[in-house]
Amino acid sequence: MEKLICGVDLGGTKLAAALFKQDGSRIDMVITHDHTDLNPDEIVLRIAALVRELLSENNLNLDDLLGVGVGLAGHILHKEGMIITSSNFKNTIHHFPLVGKLEKELGGVKVFLDNDANAQALGEFKYGAGRDGDYDSLVYMTISTGIGAGLVLNRKMYRGQSGTAGEIGHTIIDIDADSKCTCGNYGCLMALSSGLFFPELYKRKLEKGIFSTLGVTIETAGQVDGHLVNRGFKEGDPVSIAIVEDSADMVGFGIFNIFQLLNPDVVVLGGGLMNFGDSFTNRIREKFCSLTNEMMCEEMGILVSEMGTDAGLLGAAALVLE
Ligand SMILES: [Zn+2]
Repeated sequence: MEKLICGVDLGGTKLAAALFKQDGSRIDMVITHDHTDLNPDEIVLRIAALVRELLSENNLNLDDLLGVGVGLAGHILHKEGMIITSSNFKNTIHHFPLVGKLEKELGGVKVFLDNDANAQALGEFKYGAGRDGDYDSLVYMTISTGIGAGLVLNRKMYRGQSGTAGEIGHTIIDIDADSKCTCGNYGCLMALSSGLFFPELYKRKLEKGIFSTLGVTIETAGQVDGHLVNRGFKEGDPVSIAIVEDSADMVGFGIFNIFQLLNPDVVVLGGGLMNFGDSFTNRIREKFCSLTNEMMCEEMGILVSEMGTDAGLLGAAALVLE
């Protein structure tokens, strides 16, 4: 039997693991939410237990695995298998050697680690929008709580000198903006368009006199999240509509910058904010095309991720086959 690949999606609220055949078809999956209070060493044990559980439930053992790929949000040293920092752990961690520790717990099975955007870019290239081999270069952009990207250039992952290539969320697109980003700078793409900043963006719209039909006030704007803005957008709340339109425009600027820098075949969009639907995606495309003018905008596709709910897991598993 062909060996299987295992993907682990180590999220801030969810820890999931899944077994796939090498063609990307899923065999089984487990999800837990009990890892958030664990320290990094305990999380390694938890992941190992999940992988063993998946195997035993399918009458398989460690020898049936080609490898395990782990994807998580954070700064990763891919080659060294090290997490530099990640907000997905309760306690701040620095330089945690996840790969070495997990390989030991899994009896020497090969483990691969990367940030979630890189893993999903690879997954999209192998199993999603790029699966037919039509593209040499693909940029995957996740628009969610934050914004990040993974770069497949000339059919290979590009990670940069230290592994942080693709941090498009921290490119500065408005030097006059007074929205402070998590990185400490002002005017970053993610501070003007991603879910983490919706409370602040909502408050600013209210301060400008736009009326909330959701009953949100300047005092309660701190509780606004992506779900509420999505509901407001669909129910016609003027503040939510303004935020979603601004967000789409900012992402359009971001894609234009990607286009100018890399000229890839395709940009694939994924992440929670894609739930805003077709009008969000179309506005992103319109903004991008309005900027490219005569620069052949039709030749660079802007597509929506085709990996669906498996994206994080399949992307992580794809790391094994890189
Ligand atoms: Zn930033």
